Amino acid sequence: MLDFLGDLRRTHMCGALRASDAGQKAVLMGWVNRRRDLGNLLFIDVRDRTGMTQIVFDNERNPALHEKAGELRNEYVIAAIGTVKRRDPDTINKNIATGEIELIADELRILNEAKQPPFFPGDTILPNEEMRLQYRYIDLRRDAMQRNVELRHKVSIAIRDFLSSQGFFEIETPFMTRSTPEGARDYLVPSRVQPGTFYALPQSPQLFKQILMISGFDKYFQIVRCFRDEDLRADRQPEFTQIDLEMSYPQPECVWEVVEGFLTAAFKVAGHTIKTPFPRMSYDEAIRLYGSDKPDLRLPAMVDVRDAFAAENLQALAVNAKLPVVAIRIPKVGELSRKERDEIKPLFNAKGGARLFEDFKRLEKNFPEAAAKIRQKSGAEADDLIVIVAGDGKPAGHPSEGGVKPEVKQHDHAVYTSAGLLRVALAQKYADRHGAFIKSGDPDKDFRFLWVSDFPMFEYDEEGQRWAAAHHPFTSPHERDMDKLESDPGAVRALAYDVVLNGTELGSGSIRIHRQDIQSKIFHALGMTDEEARSRFGFFLEALEYGTPPHGGIALGLDRIVMILAGADSLREVIPFPKTARAVDLMVDAPTPVSEAQLEELGIEVRKQME
Ligand code: ASP
Repeated sequence: MLDFLGDLRRTHMCGALRASDAGQKAVLMGWVNRRRDLGNLLFIDVRDRTGMTQIVFDNERNPALHEKAGELRNEYVIAAIGTVKRRDPDTINKNIATGEIELIADELRILNEAKQPPFFPGDTILPNEEMRLQYRYIDLRRDAMQRNVELRHKVSIAIRDFLSSQGFFEIETPFMTRSTPEGARDYLVPSRVQPGTFYALPQSPQLFKQILMISGFDKYFQIVRCFRDEDLRADRQPEFTQIDLEMSYPQPECVWEVVEGFLTAAFKVAGHTIKTPFPRMSYDEAIRLYGSDKPDLRLPAMVDVRDAFAAENLQALAVNAKLPVVAIRIPKVGELSRKERDEIKPLFNAKGGARLFEDFKRLEKNFPEAAAKIRQKSGAEADDLIVIVAGDGKPAGHPSEGGVKPEVKQHDHAVYTSAGLLRVALAQKYADRHGAFIKSGDPDKDFRFLWVSDFPMFEYDEEGQRWAAAHHPFTSPHERDMDKLESDPGAVRALAYDVVLNGTELGSGSIRIHRQDIQSKIFHALGMTDEEARSRFGFFLEALEYGTPPHGGIALGLDRIVMILAGADSLREVIPFPKTARAVDLMVDAPTPVSEAQLEELGIEVRKQME
């Protein structure tokens, strides 16, 4: 098909030619990105994944060729043979890498015509996302998508190379398996051979990677697809990719060092030099200072200002003196009008009776001394916004403890987390004013990483009226909290950790339970009978009994990391073939009903057809 190339086997990438190639013969193959017809001169931009080159067809030089080029339309696939020429100085295009040259064509082949798509890769205005997803093959031809896919490739390779250099083996684990413990709904695959039985697609390789430690592969990793049937939000996909790893005999810090290493490598390929080690914070501190287990460090922490108020002040404000009183400070917001203050109120999602005081001016008028102390304690400048969140007048069950790293109790928690959510909402609302989210070019400011550790082992599930694993049930409790497993599950801390970037959780992991007796205890604490535990995880409990080394690991979301590095605002921008918020692949049109014959073969009857 390409035999016309004859001796000219060496073709050029469309974005590769430079002024130094002037005078050379070149062959370019790619898509017609754009044509400009100036009568005797026809300019065609030919594009491939490396960029574009302008080809010139000159009627005076070669009328037949000029006429043939006149047939070209956008997205035709062509081969052009010609000579590279330096452009006249006044026609140099500084916006593209090949802007100093053009190809004077001697020969043109139309390798394939193209139907005219509903949008063109070269369009400056994007069509709606549904259209982009339906015609994803066209959308992926766009420069931005080509760059995102390239970045994803480079990031994955950098991570692989780093982990391999540290002695990690990449080991594949099955997709057709049984329910895994991450707590979402499973995607099921029916078995034809054993009708009525199902495989589950893995929510993560959690149990397999632990088994790999039992099997002696003391450093494992995998860049792996995981499947979770969850209600989707903007930053979730039913199938997504994790950088999953596990190692034997680690302290949490060993895992952290490995993650810091591969993130450094990943950020490097995107042009950012980040600093390690990342700062570290316990879960309690994160809740107390940021009201969140994924603090965004780009804005000031909250400050406990309860002691700025005299007891009678708190009484006058109908604030519970036993609960925290926190000040949220957002820099450079400036004075708010009454209308603007009213806009803050709906951003406050009060939990457990938390109350908002959004009118600091008024507080200042009524309690000048307290307000001055608050300004001082929070380090506020005159144009900073300060709002106060406190607990209401209802008596709390316990006093809030002061001092370093207090254990955050449930009542305190409600005040802190209400404040934390408001802090984030205010930060977003006033992003233009404080400017802290604008990339400065300084990685120390732009990428605020953080390790959060010592998470609670259990969360109370109000609906189910029981304790649930906060991470997953294979996470090890702190040695010192073992005795509280039954007496006070809410106080048990886990050897679990998250890596956070700019208020987003990039990944979670933990040191695991490696003893069968402790694993059984945890299942009990989670309200599982021995029988239930055996039926769900029997193979794993058994494996634990055959000499399991202490082990731990982590998994990070690759899609999210690439999204951040690409500066994209949706995971769909960095996943070549993503699904919509309704878990639909618009290009291939999946999911779809299947034929009666297929169902019959699987012994499946569809009970109700959802609209
Ligand atoms: N399997 C866990 C998850 O997907 C991560 C881990 O504990 O390593 O969240």
